[in-house]
Amino acid sequence: MICPCGCRAVLHMNLLPDERPCWRVTRHMDGSTSLHPSVWRQKECKSHFWFRKGRVKWCRAA
Ligand SMILES: [Zn+2]
Repeated sequence: MICPCGCRAVLHMNLLPDERPCWRVTRHMDGSTSLHPSVWRQKECKSHFWFRKGRVKWCRAA
């Protein structure tokens, strides 16, 4: 996915459980998906957000 903050960085979320960090994808009845845990970029734009039911939910900047 592309970083939702607009910086155009391409984010790669590892989904393989034997590698860290990895994310779990939940598929909902309505076909949307959620990611767990939240996505937190440690470099560049430092975006921190949840991806819930196909929508980005921003975490407040610390
Ligand atoms: Zn960004």
